[in-house]
Amino acid sequence: MHCKFFSIRFVFLISVSALLLACANTTKSGAVGVNRSQFMLVSPAEVERMSSTNFNEQNQKAKEKNILITSGVTYDRLKYISNRLIQQTEIFRDDTRQWNWQLSLINAPTLNATCAPGGKITFYTGLIEQLNLSDDEIAAIMGHEIAHALREHGRERISQAVAQNAVLNIVSAAGYGIAAGAANQVAQYALVLPNSRQNESEADAIGLELSARAGYNPEAAISVWKKMIKATEGKNPPEFLSTHPSGETRIEQLTELMPAVMPLYRQAPKPKFK
Ligand SMILES: [Zn+2]
Repeated sequence: MHCKFFSIRFVFLISVSALLLACANTTKSGAVGVNRSQFMLVSPAEVERMSSTNFNEQNQKAKEKNILITSGVTYDRLKYISNRLIQQTEIFRDDTRQWNWQLSLINAPTLNATCAPGGKITFYTGLIEQLNLSDDEIAAIMGHEIAHALREHGRERISQAVAQNAVLNIVSAAGYGIAAGAANQVAQYALVLPNSRQNESEADAIGLELSARAGYNPEAAISVWKKMIKATEGKNPPEFLSTHPSGETRIEQLTELMPAVMPLYRQAPKPKFK
């Protein structure tokens, strides 16, 4: 049967692609030593396109509700911190100077921040105000979120979901057309799934180094996670807390990394934003 033949060929293509791409490592290891092969099936351009569309839609909706902040003290403060962190991303990747980095500040009581693939940063005023964040603490959260984008954790999640979906479709003898359509839906869904614990640990480590090199005290990562654990007790935790083994493990891992990043912080030129 035509369909079956195509499915077998599709399995073969997926397997070959997986073998070719399985050893991708998106970042250089830095002082914190993140080094892991990543399974990548979809292209960065596809993920970037999806991420860009979602980011623009989010901003458009916020604009319509009159909650998109594009100037003022808080916006300038975030912009200054993000610029300092972005300058340090070259430690981990050679291509980030060409990225279309964007910053969005939304006036909402949400305890969250994200950085979507390709460098689309979103912060909510609720996070900054309710936790009364210092610049060092903002840098800790932003560094963590930027690290997800540098490691392309979104693309990794999509790749895993697409591969699993393709296999399922083939097992149920679905045609290629159906598999491709469903794969696209799965990819959209995977982009908003929480990260794995391993990805969270990687983002913590790289984020710590980014903030230290940008002149922000990396010890703030510990104080800010403590604040957040306390603030979100009994509630739906935000992205950066949702998949962690426990607050204690996270703090232990961060503490172990301090000797690697404190010298970088001491040497770094310090921020001058007032
Ligand atoms: Zn995270």
